[in-house]
Amino acid sequence: MAEEVTGEGTKFDLKPNDELRFEVETKQTVVMEMTHGKGEVFGAELAKNKKYKFNSGAKVAVYTWHGCQIKISFPNLVGTTEVAYISKETPMLMYLNTHAALEQMRLKADEENMRGPRAIIVGPTDVGKSTLCRILCNYAARLGRAPIFADIDVGQGQTDIPGTIGALSVERPSDVEEDYSQLSPLSFHFGHKTPQTNTALYELLIQRLAEVINMRSEKSKRTNVSGVIINTCGWIRGAGYELIKNTAGAFEVDLVMVIDQERLFNELKRDLPHFVHVVLLPKSGGVVERSQSSRGEARDAKIREYFYGIDNSLYPHNFEVKFTDVKIFKIGAPVLPESCLPLGMKAEDNKTKQVPVMPSMSLLHHVFSVSAANSPEDNVVETNVLGYVVITAIDMEKQCFTVLAPSPRPLPKNILLMMDLQFMDIK
Ligand code: ATP
Repeated sequence: MAEEVTGEGTKFDLKPNDELRFEVETKQTVVMEMTHGKGEVFGAELAKNKKYKFNSGAKVAVYTWHGCQIKISFPNLVGTTEVAYISKETPMLMYLNTHAALEQMRLKADEENMRGPRAIIVGPTDVGKSTLCRILCNYAARLGRAPIFADIDVGQGQTDIPGTIGALSVERPSDVEEDYSQLSPLSFHFGHKTPQTNTALYELLIQRLAEVINMRSEKSKRTNVSGVIINTCGWIRGAGYELIKNTAGAFEVDLVMVIDQERLFNELKRDLPHFVHVVLLPKSGGVVERSQSSRGEARDAKIREYFYGIDNSLYPHNFEVKFTDVKIFKIGAPVLPESCLPLGMKAEDNKTKQVPVMPSMSLLHHVFSVSAANSPEDNVVETNVLGYVVITAIDMEKQCFTVLAPSPRPLPKNILLMMDLQFMDIK
C-alpha cells in the first residue's frame, strides 16, 4: 500500500518515477517531510528529515527518480489526505531529456567559448510553463551552472511582483518552499497584469531586458555559457502569437519549447528561422487550472509576500510622504489619431510616454514602482526599478500620502510609477 495514515500524518511510499501531488486548501498549512530516499520539488532536491511548510494555495509535486517516503501532515486539520495522490504518469523523463540537450549545448559553448543555449517556453495558460522553467533552471544550477531566468509573464510574476518583467541569475536551486523569492531580480515596470493592455510598452521592455541580459552575459563566461530560460504568458493567438515571434527574435533564442499545443508548435516551426529548434512537450497531468479569481488571489498573495514575506517573516514600514517629495508618472498616454500628433510622431509612441500623475484620492491602494532613475529627464521607462510601495492613505488637506514600504523612510528615490494593480493591506 502506498499510503499509510498515522496519528502524526500520512506516509506515502513513492516508487521510482512516481510523483506525489497535493494542493493546500484555503487557510490550511501542509507540513511535509522526506523520511527515506531521494525526492525533489520542481527540480530542487529535498533534504532528508527536514520539515517543509506549504501555505494556502500552494500546489506541490514531489517527484522521485529513485524512490522515497514522504510524510505529510495538516497541522490545522485532523488528518485529511483527499487532496494528495500519487501519479505514475508524468512528463519528467521528457523534461530531463530537454535539460540534457541544453546541457550538451552548454558543454559545446564552454569548449568553443560561445554563448550557451537560450530557450523560450510557450503555450496556453495553465500548462506548466513556469514550472518547466523552474525545473530546467534548478537542474542547471545543480550542475553548477548559473542560467538567467527571464520572466515576461506579467500576470503571475515568478521573479518579482506581477506587473513587472525581469530576470534573475539562478546560481543555486530554488528554495523548496519559497521558489526564487530570496533572490533579488532585475525588474522593469510594466504596470498592468496582461500584455494586451500596452503591447508597445511590453515589446520595448522585452528589447531592453534582452539588451541587459546580453550585457550581463558578456561580462561573465559562466553566465554566458549557462544561457537563458524565458517564461512567457499564455497569450498565443493573434497579436499574442506575433509577440512570441518578436520575443524569440529579441532574445535570439536557439530553442522554443511549446507545451501542449500542436497548432502553435506547427505555426512556430513554419514561421521561425530554420536554425531555431522548435520542440513540442507534453503537459503534466498535475498542473492545476486556475480560475480568474484564483489568478487574482495568486497576484494578491505575491504582492503580500513582497511586503510581509512568505510566513509573515518580514515587517514592512508605514510612513508619510509629502506630495512635493515625489514625482508620480504612469507610462502610456491614450493613443490619439495620427492627424492630431506632431509631425513625425507615431500613434504608438504615446503608449511608451511617461505622463505626470497629480495626487488625488484615485491613487489610493495602487501599487507604485520606485524607479532607479534620478530625474524625470532620464529614460525612466527603460530604467529598472528598486522596489515597490502601496499608497494606503491620502490626506488632501495635509498634502501627504501614507505608504506601505519594505524599508523605513526615506524612499530610496523619488520617482514613482503607477500600476493598474491594487493591493488592500488587510491582515
Ligand atoms: P500561466 O499560464 O498562468 O503562466 P503556467 O502554464 O506557467 O501558467 P504553472 O504556473 O507552471 O503553469 O502551473 C500552474 C500550477 O500548477 C502551479 O501552481 C504549479 O505549482 C502547479 N503544478 C505544476 N506542475 C504540477 C504537478 N506536476 N503537480 C501538481 N501541481 C503542479
